[in-house]
Parts: sequence; C-alpha cells; structure tokens
Amino acid sequence: MSQFEAYMSSPLKFPLLSAAQFFHRIQIILIFSVLMIILNRFAFYLALKQKDFTITLWLYCIGLKDSLKDTRMYRQRVIILSSFAVSATFLLCGCSKPTRLPTIFGEGKNSVSFQTRFIGASFENRPIECIILGAGNDVSFILATIHGDEPAGTTLVMELSQYLQQKPELLIGRKVVLMPVANPDGLVRNQRHNARGVDLNRNFSVANRLYNAVYGYSALSEPEARIIEHVIREYKPARIVSIHQPFGCIDYDGPAKILAEQMAQLTRLPMKKLGAMPGSLGSSAGVELGIPIVTLELLPDDHKLDAQTLWRRYGAGLIAAIIYPETDALPGK
Ligand SMILES: [Zn+2]
Repeated sequence: MSQFEAYMSSPLKFPLLSAAQFFHRIQIILIFSVLMIILNRFAFYLALKQKDFTITLWLYCIGLKDSLKDTRMYRQRVIILSSFAVSATFLLCGCSKPTRLPTIFGEGKNSVSFQTRFIGASFENRPIECIILGAGNDVSFILATIHGDEPAGTTLVMELSQYLQQKPELLIGRKVVLMPVANPDGLVRNQRHNARGVDLNRNFSVANRLYNAVYGYSALSEPEARIIEHVIREYKPARIVSIHQPFGCIDYDGPAKILAEQMAQLTRLPMKKLGAMPGSLGSSAGVELGIPIVTLELLPDDHKLDAQTLWRRYGAGLIAAIIYPETDALPGK
C-alpha cells in the first residue's frame, strides 16, 4: 500500500494526537485561557470603575453583563466559558483527518524538508508520487522507470532519497524532485509500455513526434506522460535526469553536455549521443523547452544488483546532477 492509499483509507480516530501534539495543544489552551481571564478581568474592572459603554457591551456579548455586580457569578461564568472552549478545541482536534505535514529531518539550519506528494494516477489508477526534498530555488527533477521493464532506476532513486536525507547540507538552496516510478502499470507487468500499450517516452508534445498506436494517437494521450509534463511545468527544474536501462551509457538533450560529461566520468559509463527520439521526454524538455536533460542508461543486469552496489556505482553521478555546477560535495571527494 502506498503512503497515499494509506492516508486515504485511514479511518477517523479519536484522538489522533501524539503525546507531543497533545502537550503542545495543552500549552496553547492554557496560555489562551490565562489571556482571556486577564482580558475579562481587566474589562470587568474598567466597567465597574468607569461605566464605559463599549466594555459593558463586550461583557454583555460574552454573557457576563449580569455578573457585573456579583464577583462569584462572574467567576462561575468564566469557568463555564473556559471549559466550553477547552472541550470544543479537543473535539475539533480529535475529529480532524491527519494533515500530511512535511517531515523535518535534522536540526536547525541543516534541516531537510521532506515530503511525498501524490501527483496523479496511472491509467489503471496506481498512484504516481514524487518525493520532494529541500525548499530551495535550484530544482533538479530525477525520474525512473518510465519504461516499466527498466526497474533498476527506481531502486537507485530510493537510495538517493535516503542519502539526501542524511546529507541535508546538499539541499541548502536546492530542491530535488524525485519520481521513483513514472510507469507503475508497466512496472507491475514488467513491460516497457503502459497498460494501454503506449511507449510513454514517445508520447510527449513535441514537433518530431509520430502518431500511432504505440506512440499514442495524440500528444500526451497517456495520464503518466501528462503527470510528468505537469511536474516539469509546476517545478520548472533547472536540470532533469531520466534513468533507463539497458544501454549502459550517458546521453543528453538540450544544453546538458558538460553535466553529461561529468556524469559519464563519475559513473564510468561512455557518452553516447543516441539522438532525439520522436516524442521523447528528451526531445520535449531538452530540445523544445531548453532544459538540460541527461538520460542515464544503466546496464542490462543492474536491476539484479542490491541497492548499495547500485548506489556505489551511480550515486556520485546523480549527486553531480543535483549540485551542478558545483563539484566539491561529490561522494568520495
Ligand atoms: Zn528506457
């Protein structure tokens, strides 16, 4: 079950507060109650002394006008009002669904904002999610498994997410948008295309695209391609890395030559210019929109490797893309 499904199916519970949240609310209620008592006490005093009309009206509004002459009655009313406020607050807190607040890792300046965001659903209604790390303006977008039978990229992206959470300093001034699985229906079937038999990496809106059953009869006919396009439009990444298999090389589109060379060096994969494929993400983002995009083609058997080995081989290449054009913080340096 994905985090999104878990969230949507979580029943209403009472109370949904953790111990820390509970004591935090108690603190707020106490401070609020003390402030209200002081305010009322002050208003009560002024009303008695000066017979001010506005203050008398205020006391009337909160039901304390009758108590002007009787201090004991005033106290009782304040207690009743405060208990009512406390009960109402608890009732409201307990009945609310949990809010998906970003988890904060680390402390102080180096804390990482980390959030898993549901972007949309595939043709067969599987969630397509992004992990968003950091809150800076320099945005990198890294996606994997746009072809369902090339799953090594997903493992690598999940490792990258773990690594960045442990190295929050890499995210200062940066935001990293990770899409671990761009084609969940294809991944489940271990097939290149999506559930409708369309190659998503040929489905983008670009002049060189072809119109047929495998590339889609119209541009962005597939929900998965629309979701990727939406992420690019919303986050406006400065760089994109799309992870594939099995050609074992680094390719690029748009102004990404220097980054591609760096990544080739770090991953020990050869640079190969495969050419802008019709309707591909490279053609759309790189050639038409001018966003530097690197295609990281992993090796045919890379999905059989464990996560640590994959990370050792390719992690530095991905970090290079995130911190480009800097190189000081590369793993191993
Ligand atoms: Zn591919």
